Amino acid sequence: MRRVTIFGATGSIGQATIDLIARRPGDFRVVALTGGRNVAQLAEDARALNAEIAVTAHDDALPELRERLAGSRIETAAGEAALVEAAARPADWIMSGIVGAAGLVPGLAALKQGTTLALANKESLVCAGALVLAEAKAHGATLLPVDSEHSAVFQALVGEDMGAVERVILTASGGAFRDWPLEKLARATPAEAASHPNWDMGTRITIDSASLFNKALELVEAREFFDLDPGQLEVVLHPESLVHALVGFNDGALMAHVGPPDMRHAIGYALNWPERRDLPVDRLDLVAAGALTFRGPDETRHPALRLAREVMEAGGLSGAVFCAAKDAALDAFIDGRIGFLDMARVVEDVLDRTAGRLPGEMTQETVADTAALARREADAIAGTIAAA
Ligand code: NDP
Repeated sequence: MRRVTIFGATGSIGQATIDLIARRPGDFRVVALTGGRNVAQLAEDARALNAEIAVTAHDDALPELRERLAGSRIETAAGEAALVEAAARPADWIMSGIVGAAGLVPGLAALKQGTTLALANKESLVCAGALVLAEAKAHGATLLPVDSEHSAVFQALVGEDMGAVERVILTASGGAFRDWPLEKLARATPAEAASHPNWDMGTRITIDSASLFNKALELVEAREFFDLDPGQLEVVLHPESLVHALVGFNDGALMAHVGPPDMRHAIGYALNWPERRDLPVDRLDLVAAGALTFRGPDETRHPALRLAREVMEAGGLSGAVFCAAKDAALDAFIDGRIGFLDMARVVEDVLDRTAGRLPGEMTQETVADTAALARREADAIAGTIAAA
């Protein structure tokens, strides 16, 4: 029986992971489930899966969690230290499904036990790619990609020589606003941005899909995960979201990963890796799908992609700046302090202001300090925009 832990169990990725695990009760023993504010869901799943421990990220949510799990033998805990402790509990497979930079510290703690870490939390690799990869190597841990594009690339690379890879193409649906005129984008609301045409995901990643910041993070993530040169990475818009990524080889072959947009495929692939097992996802009917269309991204509409290229070229801690500034800009957009197009302005200004001021060494501390600096700068810039 495999011992599994799920970080971000109450989120979109966490719930899809639980769906897969709950279908095979004899195969898995659940060690830890973690969540944030959604204590009701956390407690319900902890009971249903008979978890060893349920952890909420928020101290003030602990009394409710305790109350909901009263009478069970499930342990409860709260706060960042408790998340780290949960990550250290022996498990064979751990899902990193927390959203945002908050996923980094528990992920690093999980790697220290030399486990298999299924990495949905793309921010870990964007903020601190070198650190995450070094930690995995030092402790003999296995990192598996869960982002659908990165899982697609990973699958296309099975048995291949990385030296034969010419390019990797990530597809982007274009999100909620792909066909909106630029003038209208300036007035787009958070509710409009949070409605994805193809994928059912958490609110933050859905808005990031509309701004293409999600794809920008994925470019940096792919560079780190597959050790690619920035010039080997391309993005194409593909409104149908059926081709998830393509890998081009030096003999001209282009291997595409194609399937319906359902995260349970990528999660299930990571859960069953290195085997393939039956998964409860729809099988693609190519005839019903009809045409697959592709077009190049327009960087005037999507400055996030240009910023990602600058971050990949700069390397070091610029990824931590990018991630934290993007998170702060997204908060400001969700709170109504800035407009949709202002998010990219904020991130670009923060990258400019912090360039040349970043520590050379990447440690957990320098990443945290850099992220805090970027967040302060982003909040200040967002404040200026809001006041104008
Ligand atoms: P959701 O917003 O749906 O869920 C996020 C999870 O993280 C929830 O369990 C939430 O708890 C928890 N959480 C939020 N803030 C904190 C915090 N500060 N500390 C600890 N836990 C916290 O996100 P998604 O599932 O959509 O995304 C998770 C990650 O996976 C992201 O990095 C995303 O980019 C990536 N990803 C997601 C995909 C998807 O289809 N959703 C696809 C590919 C990648 P609660 O809700 O209880 O407050």
